[in-house]
Amino acid sequence: MSALPELWTHQPRSVLAFRPGRRVADIDTNATPGFRGEKAGAPELQAERNAAFAELQEMLYANGKAAGDHRSVLLVLQGMDTAGKGGIVEHVVGAGSPMGIRYRAFGVPTAEERSHHYLWRIRNALPPAGLLGVFDRSHYEDVLVVRVHNLVEPAVWAPRYDEINAFEKELVDAGTTIVKVAMFVSLDEQKKRLAERLERPDKHWKYNPGDLDERQLWPQYQQAYQDLLDKTSTEHAPWHVLPCDRKWYARLAVTELLIEALTAMRLSWPPADFDVEAERARLRAL
Ligand code: AMP
Ligand code: MG
Repeated sequence: MSALPELWTHQPRSVLAFRPGRRVADIDTNATPGFRGEKAGAPELQAERNAAFAELQEMLYANGKAAGDHRSVLLVLQGMDTAGKGGIVEHVVGAGSPMGIRYRAFGVPTAEERSHHYLWRIRNALPPAGLLGVFDRSHYEDVLVVRVHNLVEPAVWAPRYDEINAFEKELVDAGTTIVKVAMFVSLDEQKKRLAERLERPDKHWKYNPGDLDERQLWPQYQQAYQDLLDKTSTEHAPWHVLPCDRKWYARLAVTELLIEALTAMRLSWPPADFDVEAERARLRAL
């Protein structure tokens, strides 16, 4: 059921893994690493893999509910505006059961959040046992936007890389599988997507005039992403570098990353903790 479809020549987990020395500026955002299929075949494959993901995710939930399994999965989506984070949430994660999903988007911190350590709001949003947590932006904003806009001194943000690594290690040791995806679009593709948001009234809600200010800071963001990948791609929580100019590819790839993570947990349906035959007999008699 969860074997990698033959249209994949390489496992997304390995082909997308960030490798030391890799330059953010050199990422081919239009590429489809490890995949030899075409866009035309994507919807059918996506539907098939959505179903495989959904079954595994339900199993994770079932084990948390009925088998005392404390494990969870956390999908971390980071990317510039229009990279397609929302599309992943809708078209990939959305195939799962809402009961077992804890979605959280991180925006500009509220006054209350600002009064705490930056990881406070992150800890509050972690997935409980059996759940798939989804971070739409994350603690990494505290070494991205915060750094690019000098919201705090370098002496404050610089130690955060080590702190984040230690934080994630703690989560992994406590049973959370972390799937980190850094999503990259080209400047041209971003321009197209922002233009579309301006053209379509049904997309105005996604547009923020501030997005253009961020766009002007592209080189600074690239440098911040470079450092982020260099410093926080660890063995316990590696980064995946996802080219996102082709949405259909990005969605297929994240679906496989989730399937791989769930498969590695060797889940099965929790056995009944009651006598099935006796219950059948009781029910028949009622
Ligand atoms: P969006 O994801 O499009 O709704 O935008 C959320 C905005 O919140 C982005 O511009 C982020 O950079 C910003 N944001 C998220 N986390 C932080 C943070 N810790 N400090 C400042 N801004 C943040
Ligand atoms: Mg936005």
